[in-house]
Amino acid sequence: MKLTLATKNSHKTQEIREMAPKSFEILDINDLGDFPQAIEDGTTFLANATIKAIELSKKVDGYVLSDDSGLVVDALGGAPGVYSSRYAGTDGDDQANNAKLLREMEGVKERSARFACVMVIARKGLFLTHFEGIIEGKIIDTLLGSEGFGYDPLFIPEGYEQSFGELAGEIKNQLSHRSRALSQTLEWLGQQ
Ligand code: IMP
Repeated sequence: MKLTLATKNSHKTQEIREMAPKSFEILDINDLGDFPQAIEDGTTFLANATIKAIELSKKVDGYVLSDDSGLVVDALGGAPGVYSSRYAGTDGDDQANNAKLLREMEGVKERSARFACVMVIARKGLFLTHFEGIIEGKIIDTLLGSEGFGYDPLFIPEGYEQSFGELAGEIKNQLSHRSRALSQTLEWLGQQ
């Protein structure tokens, strides 16, 4: 089955490719040539995932899958949340985002946080369904490891001693918010 991901983030695509069965042919916006990215002006993960999936599904054949995800930090009132990729100002600047998070969390005792992911499936401009995944954990006060992307070096998942930046990709893929949303999404697609 062909599945087009409504993302330009090749890290997300890579993770989804690693987790999905080989029977799925997974493409993303980078495979489509010059394609304008949808404007993510929603205030929830679901709203942004819906915008991205519907826009792309008007332009490609077959099912489109979008992933809107981010880090939710309790001590910061849920920030960076839907603004995770542009927390420090520039979209996708992981280094600046991590530096800002370290500054905001300096001296803060309450370190609980979670990664959240909402996936939406759309086809021919129509919303079909959505699924959510969450992984609980805590924010540490120094960058650890170089695996993964985004806030991975600052996040230790519950029950582990190492950050997502240190844990092997296979371990992250078993636990992550993305894998939890994806397994439900793939099950749904398998029933279509
Ligand atoms: P989106 O592309 O608008 O969904 O923004 C996702 C942003 O959330 C990324 O740029 C990262 O900053 C953060 N994020 C989402 N998933 C992960 C993850 O698995 N690890 C680390 N950061 C993540």
